[in-house]
Amino acid sequence: MQDYVKLGRLEERALKLLLKYGDRGLLQSELWHLLGITSRDGSRVAIKLEKRGLIKRVREFANDRWTMRLISLVKPLDLSIIRDSPCPPCPYNDFCGVSGTYTPTQCVLIESWLLSLVDAKAGRVETTVQAVKT
Ligand code: SF4
Repeated sequence: MQDYVKLGRLEERALKLLLKYGDRGLLQSELWHLLGITSRDGSRVAIKLEKRGLIKRVREFANDRWTMRLISLVKPLDLSIIRDSPCPPCPYNDFCGVSGTYTPTQCVLIESWLLSLVDAKAGRVETTVQAVKT
């Protein structure tokens, strides 16, 4: 199984732009314009990205003609959940790992942080249930 997809520079730029426009995507002509490329080169890029499962092309009638809307199927990675993790400021960070002096599987700091996440999530669920009951 392939864990990552290596893209050319142009495909990468196109995908980054489409990511920025989220579920709305861009008309292909808008994307070509932003990339500063011809429609011929742009079509090649779109087809490559679609074949790799990174975007979808949706037929749309716009500006008096049929065209394609390009929408990213890749979603931005949300790292906010690890923002308050104890690891980044930890003084043992450089010595921590599977074969390190310290291991995340035996760390009380990471355990209590994970438990706090579970508690916070349970609290949110409870609040939602209460809101539905009232
Ligand atoms: S798992 Fe624990 S010991 Fe390891 S870096 Fe994170 S907080 Fe520090």
